[in-house]
Amino acid sequence: MLWDRARAIFPGGVNSPARALRHLQSPLIAERGEGAYLYTDRGKLVDFCMGFGPLILGHRPKPVLDAVKAWLERGWLYAMLTEPEVELGETIIRHVPSVKKIRFVSTGTEATMNAVRLARGYTKRDVIIKFEGNFHGSHDYVLVKAGSGAATWGIPTSAGIPADVAKLTVVVPYNDVEAFRKAIREVGDRLAAVIVEPVAGNYGLIIPDIDFLKTLREETERVGALLIFDEVITGFRLGLSGAQGRFGVIPDITTLGKIIGGGFPIGAFGGRQEVMDLVAPSGPVYNAGTFNAHPVSMVAGLATLRELERGYPYEVADRAAEKMARGLEDLAGRYGFDVVVKRISSMFQLYFKRGDVKTPQDVRESNEKLYLKLHEIALSHGVYLTPSQYEVNFTSSMHTDEVVNEALQALELAFRKLKLV
Ligand code: PMP
Repeated sequence: MLWDRARAIFPGGVNSPARALRHLQSPLIAERGEGAYLYTDRGKLVDFCMGFGPLILGHRPKPVLDAVKAWLERGWLYAMLTEPEVELGETIIRHVPSVKKIRFVSTGTEATMNAVRLARGYTKRDVIIKFEGNFHGSHDYVLVKAGSGAATWGIPTSAGIPADVAKLTVVVPYNDVEAFRKAIREVGDRLAAVIVEPVAGNYGLIIPDIDFLKTLREETERVGALLIFDEVITGFRLGLSGAQGRFGVIPDITTLGKIIGGGFPIGAFGGRQEVMDLVAPSGPVYNAGTFNAHPVSMVAGLATLRELERGYPYEVADRAAEKMARGLEDLAGRYGFDVVVKRISSMFQLYFKRGDVKTPQDVRESNEKLYLKLHEIALSHGVYLTPSQYEVNFTSSMHTDEVVNEALQALELAFRKLKLV
């Protein structure tokens, strides 16, 4: 069996922990994706994971497929400048307010790693503040009290990070203005940067108070540190201008990934000209990569952004997420479960708890076991919810009313069964 072969050669049988699905006997095996659906070893599933965020146009959208196919005919790696990278860079700069210059890398992890290095190079300071439950990829500066798979698997702070490195990362509760002010007072003029997910999408979904984001902006400016918005998830998901456009809070550096590569490997960091000009070769902050600005990722990203500029994908995806959120609340109510459902744009998550979800602590107080049970039952009825309480569900422009109705009908059966468990 494929799973046995995988287990024999990959740690935990997978190549990224979030795919292992702790609560199931074995991970899912994908065969193909089409629109809002995944075809797997468990059959055809309505997908609400969407590759953990990049696939805002659904699986295998024609504009992306055509662009990639056409480009492949020309070869795919030159170690030279190409036209699509200039066009994608210009397109991003046109839409994302803080980005005046940009560097493409291959993953979100590299984007945040380089953003932090750049902030340290610019300020000539060492300490960064990050927030509990935020996930910025898997490198040493940020794998401290992290979310996503690190939270799912109970290893939010990775082994193998030197204590001398970890102590330069000060961790503060997300969405807690007072705790943040206290940390700023303590770190003082050693602070190089604050890095934050402007909407937290790696500890379930936590929507910040606008005051929290504004305070980050004011305080970093006051102490001469840089503010980094990690928009790897929110960039081009919360609209063309991302969370910064939505909330009107403009950071110094922005990291992007996921959607801007149309489902191919991608990351980027960008910001003010005077800051970005410190990046090599125009400055002393080093970054390089064999696959930086890979042409296939560039054309896929460009085709995706061109579709998003037409507006309709946001309308469909946002409406789908809203219908799902209301539908889940309604089903939970009918079957007697206390739930909180959070939604912004085309992201949503469900928590089995009373009250509200505004902090990582609120997420931890929800009933994770019930979530995983619902996930498992929903899967058997053809719906693939995001596979952890610490991730979010995504909709796409292929999640039409028809697809959402199909999913909610399946989820009704799932809630009915959940009641009997
Ligand atoms: N930042 C955020 C906010 C993310 O959600 C992720 C990945 N889920 C990353 C960074 C890391 O991106 P990648 O997996 O491409 O390295």
